[in-house]
This record gives sequence, structure tokens and C-alpha cells, in this order.
Amino acid sequence: MLTRTIYLSLDPYQWGRRRSGAESVGDVCHGRTVSQVVESRTDAYAPGDYLFTTNGWQLYGLTGEGIDVFGYMFPRKVDPSVAPISTAVGILGMLGLTAYSGVVVQCRPKPGETVVVSAASGGVGQAAGQIAKLHGCRVVGIAGTAAKCDFVVKELGLDACVAHRSPSYPDDLRAACPDGVDIYFENVGGHVFEGVLPLLNQSARISLCGMISQYGDTDGRDASETWAESGKAVFSRQNVAVHRLFVRDFVADHQDRFLHEMAAWVQDGRIKYREDIRDGLDQAPAAFSALFSGGNFGKTLVRVGEDPTLA
Ligand code: NDP
Repeated sequence: MLTRTIYLSLDPYQWGRRRSGAESVGDVCHGRTVSQVVESRTDAYAPGDYLFTTNGWQLYGLTGEGIDVFGYMFPRKVDPSVAPISTAVGILGMLGLTAYSGVVVQCRPKPGETVVVSAASGGVGQAAGQIAKLHGCRVVGIAGTAAKCDFVVKELGLDACVAHRSPSYPDDLRAACPDGVDIYFENVGGHVFEGVLPLLNQSARISLCGMISQYGDTDGRDASETWAESGKAVFSRQNVAVHRLFVRDFVADHQDRFLHEMAAWVQDGRIKYREDIRDGLDQAPAAFSALFSGGNFGKTLVRVGEDPTLA
């Protein structure tokens, strides 16, 4: 099939691919996309169909059927009647499944527990916080700015949000978690994680989703590997369960249930989502950099080509 790129998803792991040498100068940068079929030589897909696929950072792509990329099978049809098609690379895609797997499958939240989520206004974080709320938890977000915190509390409905760039961040977080922390969904690492560690309750659970503030330090190695190892002594003293999270491990067993539940939550408004959409493929480098400085606000996408469903 020849497919036209409509939305390109920008995700922090793409940097790791470049740094680790999985991509070299001259390669097309990898990227998940929502694309539309232009020409098809298969009976399964027809021109006009919308697909979740991997065109990468380009206007058009060629794809076959049943292609496995990091545990995801491509392409998959996207039904525009369920939700806006952009959500196939966001709340109803890998990001949503990542949040669901970490919160629900790994950490098993119980009503009344305190859950902390970092990068709480971001793509994965906004899903993680709201899923924990739906499970009856008290949820505290951590975000970079007052505007992001405002969104997290007023729009997403979390109970509190603490700005990590404030010098009083550790004290603010302690004050927002008077009963300690039972579950920590980690997206950031560094000083953000250090603020949470002393607040962990006995038998707390951590989902180590990502440590974006440390990706530049690791030559493409996974920063959470280092943390999981170095924190082992503290964690074992307090019987803290640390789960490293790789979304690909959850696709086979949990994706269908996740899609079913999340589509219903999005449709009835129990889960909200914010997208940060930049127009034009030439915006991709700047939008990608913004992920690593907090310059994005919500799930970051580039609209590469016209989205006919918006007409
Ligand atoms: P986001 O939309 O959350 O954007 C990244 C956010 O991280 C920024 O907005 C910023 O939020 C925060 N951030 C970036 N750099 C720093 C820094 N130096 N210090 C503090 N905060 C920083 O991105 P995603 O939702 O795409 O990804 C979130 C995390 O989830 C990443 O760590 C990513 O690698 C991980 N991930 C893991 C997966 C897995 O399988 N385990 C799958 C998908 C994503 P703020 O301004 O609020 O600080």
C-alpha cells in the first residue's frame, strides 16, 4: 500500500533509537503515524481507509500487512467514528496503553490510595492520572509549570498538582501527600523522582515508565535500568515493588481490553485528553526537542497532511 501521512507521533524513545545507532544519518526517522491509503494491492485495505502505521518522518510511506515493530502489529485500521483519528497515536494508542499497563496491570490501585504521576500534563501522564482517579485513588500530579498544574487539576480532575521547577518542590509535594505515596508512575527521573522517594509508603509500587530528564546522560541506554538497580536497597527495606515498564510487553494480553475500556471512557467524557499539534513536517524537529524541555503541552503530534475527518 501507498499511504499518505496525516499525523506523525513524536515520542521520546525516538531519541534513544538515534543515540543507540538504531538509526543513522540518511535513514528515514522512525515514527508511528495515522495515514490514509492512497493505493492498495491488498483486499484488506482500500483507498481512503485510515491506518495506524509507521510511515516515519515523511509525507508518504509504503507498507505491507502484518508487520511487527517492537511488538506492535502494523498496520491497523482506524475507525473515525470512535474518536478523532489523531487519538490512534495518543490516548487510544501506545500512550494510553502505556499508562493503563503501568497503573492498572503493574500497580493495581486500590480506592483511597495516594498515586503520584510525573509529567502529569503530558501524553502518558494525563492518561495515567485519570485512570488512577477512575480507580478511586487520590491522585497528585507533578508538572513543569503553573499553567500545566492548573490544567491537571481543573481539566483532568486530579486532586492536586505540584510544580517541580519551584525551589519548594520537595516540601510542596510532601504537603500534597499527607498520607505518603502508595503508587508512583514515573515519567521524568532526576530531581523529580528524588522528591518522591522519601514519601514512599511501606509496600508502595513504582511503575518506571520513563526517565526523560536523564535520557541525555545515558548514551542511549535505558536510564530506568540504572535507577532500578541503584534504588534496590531502599526499595527492599520498604518492600517497594519496582516495575520497569515496556509497553510492548502488554500488547498481546492487554491491548484489546484497554481499547475497549478506553474508547468508552473517552466517548463518555470520563477521560479527557489534550493534544499539542504542530502543523507541517518541517515543524517536527522543533516539536521533538520540546519534549525534552517541557516546551510541549499534551500529547505531541505533527499534522503532516490534511485530515479529511475534520472537514
Ligand atoms: P510528554 O508529553 O510527557 O512530554 C515529556 C514531558 O516530560 C515534558 O512535557 C516535561 O513535562 C517532562 N520533561 C522533559 N524533560 C524534562 C526535564 N529535563 N526535567 C523535568 N521534566 C522534563 O511525553 P510522553 O508522554 O511521550 O512520554 C512521557 C514518558 O513516558 C517519557 O519518559 C517516555 O520515555 C515514557 N514512555 C515510556 C513508554 C514505555 O513503554 N515504558 C512508552 C511511551 C512513553 P513537565 O513540563 O511537566 O516537566
